[in-house]
Amino acid sequence: MLRVEGLDVQYGRIRAVRDVSLEVSQGEIVGLLGPNGAGKTSTLGAVSGRLPVAGGRVLLEGEQLDGRPAEEIVRRGVSLVPEGRHVFATLTVAENLAIGATVRKDRAQVAEDIERQLERFSVLRRYYRSNAGKLSGGEQQQLVIARALLSRPRLLLLDEPSLGLSPLLVDLVFETIEQLRAEGLTILLVEQNASRTVEVADRCYVLRGGELVAHAPRGDLSPEELGDIYLGAG
Ligand code: ATP
Repeated sequence: MLRVEGLDVQYGRIRAVRDVSLEVSQGEIVGLLGPNGAGKTSTLGAVSGRLPVAGGRVLLEGEQLDGRPAEEIVRRGVSLVPEGRHVFATLTVAENLAIGATVRKDRAQVAEDIERQLERFSVLRRYYRSNAGKLSGGEQQQLVIARALLSRPRLLLLDEPSLGLSPLLVDLVFETIEQLRAEGLTILLVEQNASRTVEVADRCYVLRGGELVAHAPRGDLSPEELGDIYLGAG
């Protein structure tokens, strides 16, 4: 479904991503692991059109995404849940959810989809008319995932969704990810929680210093190898 070929991402003269190639097939959860500064967020930025592609190509079902505006990429079925739970704090939960659907024209089905997300994340129903800024970190994470789903993506890009959450909420995030795959969604997951990611992902790629250093199917990365990834050794 997604094919990234020889991707380069640059910030001025800094090359954050170098010659990265990866694939995500229909219905897969693919993990993208690596230490801080490895280039994971920059890779998602380039795929989602939020950052310019300095080299290489990004293809969705064979069609070129690179060079297209971010909004068009959302319309084509790729939705990003950025790092850091960016909710519109002074808007209500309802308004935040509606923003996720602005690229759509099928208004009647949007209402149905909002209902589906309120069933999935019951806390959002409870605070539906409250300002999103009042929600806890875990509740805001549920809101940004629900908001991203309201664009009806085929491919969901998740950037560190479990970061800073309590163990119970980390469980909820990973259960949600598995549930979404069961519903047919394809997921590219950037995570610092490597041990949970290798459990849930069909395959993982490992980035370090902007370059791809490993690619492994489920079960192929040992705890020792994972430790090396985060210590920056190996
Ligand atoms: P983290 O988990 O810390 O977000 P990451 O793997 O997502 O790490 P990136 O955020 O993609 O890594 O960063 C890759 C490199 O690009 C790092 O060296 C970082 O310092 C640099 N970088 C990221 N954003 C910018 C920016 N806006 N301007 C300049 N350099 C940047």
